[in-house]
Amino acid sequence: MPRAVVTGGAGFLGSHLCAQLLDRGYEVVAVDNLLTGRRSNLDDLAGRDGFTFVEADVVVGLEVAGPVDAVLHFASPASPPEYLRLPFETLDVGSIGTRHALDLARAHGARFLLASTSEIYGDPEVHPQPESYWGNVNSTGPRAVYDEAKRFAEALSMAYLRYHEVDVKIARIFNTMGPRMKPEDGRVVSNFLVQAIRGRPLTVYGDGTQTRSFCYVDDEAAGLIALMESEHRGPMNIGNPGEFTILELAGLVREVVGADVPVVHEPLPADDPVRRRPDITLARTVLGWEPRVPLRDALERTCTWYRDELARAGTP
Ligand code: NAD
Ligand code: UDP
Repeated sequence: MPRAVVTGGAGFLGSHLCAQLLDRGYEVVAVDNLLTGRRSNLDDLAGRDGFTFVEADVVVGLEVAGPVDAVLHFASPASPPEYLRLPFETLDVGSIGTRHALDLARAHGARFLLASTSEIYGDPEVHPQPESYWGNVNSTGPRAVYDEAKRFAEALSMAYLRYHEVDVKIARIFNTMGPRMKPEDGRVVSNFLVQAIRGRPLTVYGDGTQTRSFCYVDDEAAGLIALMESEHRGPMNIGNPGEFTILELAGLVREVVGADVPVVHEPLPADDPVRRRPDITLARTVLGWEPRVPLRDALERTCTWYRDELARAGTP
């Protein structure tokens, strides 16, 4: 039975990865300090054979006893309001934390999968974005605490590939949605769904013509595991190439929730990328992977989870 270590395992994406890895017959060790994640994300996994949770900060260190076949490094604040609130934690986990995760993979001869991001392309001047594009990032802007931490993590991972022959794969993840994304997380999908369910106005930042490409979490996790299990080394975009303006997203959310709520415009955050869409030719060719769940279905599934989650929390 292969054994995988998932840092950030109690987070949104990490918890889905843990579940899919268990389904595929892996033993899974989830490591998380619960900085932005929630222990309850692992409630369904707690009793499953082969699953262990370790509460620990990967910036302090990462040692795991026993065999390790794969290290999936997902620990990091990911939502813009959260990484802006946690700048030093974000920089530390992207740099020192990544180093510890790479050292663990190196010590065990394990595969290494880095959770990188479409944010490394910054406000892209090439559209859609292929892996060969170097990006357009403001290294001193507020988002740099996240973008540059991830760019450093990519550089560090490639150095471990080149100098230490660690089997490094880098997933450039584009906006993902689904169950277990915290209602108060602050990202656009969680904000809009929670606002619509509560009958409140949808907060569109700027004029809403900026675009994003949204992937359903089951598709995303399947792509990430396919990359991890492949012989590919280096970066690969894993995301859904369907591109929507934020106003289009707001319209779809209103339809899916069945809420006739207005839109209110709020200021656009600094350096907010104008457009974003992955070129997934590489993932299609090398992995035979592409997303299956269209945006409306993804929103419907996610909405069902939020209705239950808000009812559970007693704040419908
Ligand atoms: P999340 O905040 O839900 O999960 C991140 C997890 O990392 C949390 O459980 C948090 O407690 C944990 N963590 C943070 N610092 C830690 C530390 N020092 N030690 C141990 N655990 C720590 O975010 P997410 O959306 O699940 O994102 C997971 C990863 O995927 C992140 O690395 C993020 O940058 C990347 N990513 C996500 C998206 C997306 O759309 N969700 C897009 C691009 C990249
Ligand atoms: N956004 C918005 N309203 C919100 C939250 C976000 O209009 O309540 C916008 C944000 O400015 C950005 C897009 O939606 O243009 C996606 O934001 P998110 O925080 O989800 O992720 P990002 O892609 O910026 O990392």
